[in-house]
Amino acid sequence: LFAGQSEFLKGVVAMSGLPPADRIEVCFAGRSNVGKSSLINALTGTKGLARASNTPGRTQEINFFTQGPELYLVDLPGYGYANAPLAVVEKWQRLLKQYLSGRQTLRRAFVLIDTRHGVKKVDEEIMKLLDTSAVTFQVVMTKADKVKEKDRAKILDQVRDALSKHPAAYPEIVLTSSEKGDGIATLRSIIAHLD
Ligand code: GDP
Repeated sequence: LFAGQSEFLKGVVAMSGLPPADRIEVCFAGRSNVGKSSLINALTGTKGLARASNTPGRTQEINFFTQGPELYLVDLPGYGYANAPLAVVEKWQRLLKQYLSGRQTLRRAFVLIDTRHGVKKVDEEIMKLLDTSAVTFQVVMTKADKVKEKDRAKILDQVRDALSKHPAAYPEIVLTSSEKGDGIATLRSIIAHLD
């Protein structure tokens, strides 16, 4: 699945704009600055690919990337943006709910958690939304290189504890560093084995 090229396809602002559901897809969610763009770039081996989703105006869109002919990687930006007007937030949340509960080809959501910070309140919110949308989600720890190995266990315990409260959570946690490349092959393999 990861052999082919990767390209930014489009930013979607309404359900009517979704690309045809003609291949499997996985989506990525996380607080801003968690390392989501870096992870998508590392997964696809395409530098600068996911930068598009960080540019102003793109932050309330669902961004679709093609990965070869058989997979979409879907970037769900827009949570943890404190300064957006309420109406914008509500419109975004409505789209997010519709997407998560209505997309037949969505196989899994990856919820990114900074290894330094663990699960925060906004992460809990998205996990709850994934529960109610019945979308299986898996936690990907980012920036693992920033935390010494001996200090990781405590954070991982906190994450496991948080996950135990979510029926849609997949128990295996993936530790990654986009910078060092750790866990990237593992994550690719997890995605490649979804069907
Ligand atoms: P996004 O806002 O979630 O898309 O986050 P970015 O991918 O833009 O990353 C935010 C910051 O964290 C940038 O300065 C990245 O260089 C840095 N970063 C991302 N991933 C890693 C990582 O694995 N290790 C380290 N040390 N820094 C990272």
